[in-house]
Amino acid sequence: MIESPLLEKLTGYIGGRWTDNEHGNTFDVYNPATGKVIAQVASMSEDEVNAAIASGKSALRLTSPYSIETRRKWLEDIRDALKANKEEVGRILCMEHGKPLHEAQGEVDYAAGFFDYCSKHIQALDAHTIPEKPKDCTWTVHYRPIGVAGLITPWNFPIGMIAKKLSAALAAGCPSVIKPASETPLTMIALFSLMDKHTDMPDGMVNLVMGKASVIGKALCESPDVPMLSFTGSTEVGRKLIVDTAEQVKKLALELGGNAPFIVFDDADLDAAADNLIANKFRGGGQTCVCANRIFVHEKVADAFGEKLAARVNKMTVGDGINGDVDIGPLINQAGYDKVKRHVQDALEKGATLVAGKKPEELGNDLFFPPTVVHGVNRDMCCYQEETFGPLVPMALFRTEEEVIEAGNDTEFGLASYVFTNDAERAQRVAAGLRFGHCGWNTGTGPTPEAPFGGMKASGIGREGGLEGLFEFVEAQTVPRGF
Ligand code: NAP
Repeated sequence: MIESPLLEKLTGYIGGRWTDNEHGNTFDVYNPATGKVIAQVASMSEDEVNAAIASGKSALRLTSPYSIETRRKWLEDIRDALKANKEEVGRILCMEHGKPLHEAQGEVDYAAGFFDYCSKHIQALDAHTIPEKPKDCTWTVHYRPIGVAGLITPWNFPIGMIAKKLSAALAAGCPSVIKPASETPLTMIALFSLMDKHTDMPDGMVNLVMGKASVIGKALCESPDVPMLSFTGSTEVGRKLIVDTAEQVKKLALELGGNAPFIVFDDADLDAAADNLIANKFRGGGQTCVCANRIFVHEKVADAFGEKLAARVNKMTVGDGINGDVDIGPLINQAGYDKVKRHVQDALEKGATLVAGKKPEELGNDLFFPPTVVHGVNRDMCCYQEETFGPLVPMALFRTEEEVIEAGNDTEFGLASYVFTNDAERAQRVAAGLRFGHCGWNTGTGPTPEAPFGGMKASGIGREGGLEGLFEFVEAQTVPRGF
């Protein structure tokens, strides 16, 4: 079992205190590197979720809102607490998620960056008067907190994803009811321990509920006291939330799945492209929404690029992330492992060739999947159509710019994309043609706190990060003054 000063309680947090887990229901949390149970965490009832919502409602202040200074202080305190406890939060994250320790601790820094960004830009949420005076009135625009927000997060960035939402919600003055993924609730409990000890937010401003997604999701969708849900996860669950909140016309911020194209033209710096692809593709073991999922390489450089990739992949180490300098940890669970295996098998059966990695029949019985490269991929293969969410690099060939823009867009998703070329005009054309919310030019880098990030098409609604993300949890109210 995991021991940590940040995990003294393994229950929910409602109204400024840890709950008693009166029903006694729990669920197990596993370390995917060892397959062992490391904690048993309270599984909460619908009544408890409703109590969390009520407690959020009691913390909402509309007529005498929390001042900008007060909200800024909350954000700064959370940022400082995360930075001061980066090693321990990262260790907990590593043990329940499996990603290498240095990546896990880097994610804590990344999370602190969102609280920092919002604290420095919160003034943008101040009221302002517009310069024009239509209808002989003075028009003031106020940014009101939308109300109690339900924040639902996935397992792949256990601290990064909540930081994006919670920083903007607190900046807006919105109380929240937070549900972490059942694979990774411990990092969230650690965050609540830090907020409990190091901030003086009012009781009910932040509430933690854990357990069955169906129970918690239903309560959040049905409550009229929750006007907004901010969700990061699969497109499948995102679609369900759209349907389940339609009756009440709730505001939804949805960060959903991806199927990122990574395009390498024949004039690109192939070494830089290969280095960037490795860093992008294998972060989190390939389990990120911005991971390159389809690699389109110009036919003239495909063999050379494949060799560079294989040379790099063959040097990568796979193992328990807690043991120092491992490149890739285990996949999160058996279902995730089986999906990657199915994608490799399907590609090989349909004519792709294995450039690096193991054949499916050579794989072991644990959750450690070797980094794998396959060549000769086409749109009939599962790895082209679906988000693999694992350490598989599927390479496809292209000949022309028009052809590759069309192929890149040949997906319902529109989250991240990447283009490698030394021709600036071509890069501008391709970026404009790709229907993706993020398009890296000669870089495989993903989101940062300073820039808006989010999806087009079935990859979501809304943006997180940047000023756009700061404005997600407010409603603009205009007040024309007539005399
Ligand atoms: P998921 O299965 O959709 O789960 C995400 C969260 O939703 C979890 O907390 C889950 O709870 C909860 N949930 C499941 N069913 C629900 C329901 N009916 N009502 C309310 N909540 C429900 O996704 P995942 O497997 O954790 O995450 C992987 C996916 O997230 C990938 O598709 C990835 O691309 C996407 N993602 C997108 C972004 C982005 O910025 N666009 C970032 C990261 C990840 P349980 O864990 O208890 O089931």
